[in-house]
Amino acid sequence: MNSELDLDITYGEYKAKLLISRMAVSLTKIVDGKAAISDTLTNSQTVKCLECEQEFRLGYSDGEWNRVKDWLAIAESAIRKDHKRKHEVASVGLEWRGLRRR
Ligand SMILES: [Zn+2]
Repeated sequence: MNSELDLDITYGEYKAKLLISRMAVSLTKIVDGKAAISDTLTNSQTVKCLECEQEFRLGYSDGEWNRVKDWLAIAESAIRKDHKRKHEVASVGLEWRGLRRR
C-alpha cells in the first residue's frame, strides 16, 4: 500500500513537488535497542509487549501529539495481537479507530 501523497505545486514560476506522508504514526519493532525500520517521525515512545519483553517504537508526527494516549492504547492492542504471531514483522500496522463512525 502506498502511504504517500505526491503533490505538484506551481507558485508563479516555481514548481515544487511536495511529498506528504499520510502515515503520521508508526509502530516498529525494536531489535538490539534500535528500531528495525527507521522513519522520519520526530516523536517517539517505547511500548512494551505485556506478554513478553519485546519493545516497540511508537513514532508519531507533531500533529498527532494530542492523540498519543489513544495511539498508545491502539498500539497496545496491536502488540497483543502481534504477540500471537510471535512478533515476526518489523512494522505493525495501526488503524485509527476514531475515524470509524459506527
Ligand atoms: Zn510479546
